[in-house]
Amino acid sequence: MRVALLGSAQKASSDDVALHVPGPPGCRLSENGAVPELPEVQALVEFLRERTDGLAIVGIELGSVSVLKTYDPAPASLHGLPIGGVTRHGKFIDIEAEGLHLVFHLARAGWLRWSDTLAATTIRPGKSPIALRCRLSDGSGFDLTEAGTQKRLAVYIVRDPLEVPGILHLGPDPMAEDFTVADFVSLLEGRRTQVKGLLKDQAFLAGVGNAYSDEVLHAARLSPFALASSLDEEQVERLYSALRGTLAGAIKAASGKPAKELKDAKRAGMRVHGRTGQACPVCGDIVREVSFADSSLQYCATCQTGGKPLADRRMSRLLK
Ligand SMILES: [Zn+2]
Repeated sequence: MRVALLGSAQKASSDDVALHVPGPPGCRLSENGAVPELPEVQALVEFLRERTDGLAIVGIELGSVSVLKTYDPAPASLHGLPIGGVTRHGKFIDIEAEGLHLVFHLARAGWLRWSDTLAATTIRPGKSPIALRCRLSDGSGFDLTEAGTQKRLAVYIVRDPLEVPGILHLGPDPMAEDFTVADFVSLLEGRRTQVKGLLKDQAFLAGVGNAYSDEVLHAARLSPFALASSLDEEQVERLYSALRGTLAGAIKAASGKPAKELKDAKRAGMRVHGRTGQACPVCGDIVREVSFADSSLQYCATCQTGGKPLADRRMSRLLK
């Protein structure tokens, strides 16, 4: 059974089968780089801002009761309220209407599907892949969907975005205009943590996930396992420039794209993430991978680790 599931991923040992089981379409693990991070969320915010301008929320329907993490205010309290703005907090999207906030986090397998004309059918809790439907006053609206079984898509209806724990504990936004290299230096100071993990930590820095942390480290020519506290001044500056430059480039590439095109645009922009075995676009070396229980990272040994491949438990077991 396990072997049958492996498909083309012949290298995997049985312990790692979970990494290679094909999920439903559009729902593979983060290796494919389709999980929305800061640039895609920013593009979704701009998309929603444009589409919802001048409209009111006329209906919130839940297809999954567990997706809503708050119970007061009730979803119906949003009905009839004009939308005042759409913003982003890290990877959270925040739709404000008359002092109430509809906040959501798409997580690994969640997505937003926009319709200029939403179906008239009312969504009810059950087996629908639609977790939430939001109807707007001109007949348009969107569905929040979640593929697979992880169910990490989260929706909150709050009076203050800081009532959302994930927002309350967010680190600074790397794309904020006032986020300087000096701020970054003080953030890194004394952090005896691997820089890859640190970049993904939302309490350290808001909005970067598994894919863009790979891309940023590749652009900065740093090992994902380097300890943050051991980076010298020049390396920290390189990391800061790579962070801002990589995200700015991705925002530019995503900007103006409709919601349905953002995942493909993200994948297409990756230089190492999700590209194991392909050539590094900078030096031509092959892109290597380190796999973990539920994720993997990609890097270029020539560009990032002085030519030395990093230890990978899966690869080393196979080589025994
Ligand atoms: Zn390279």
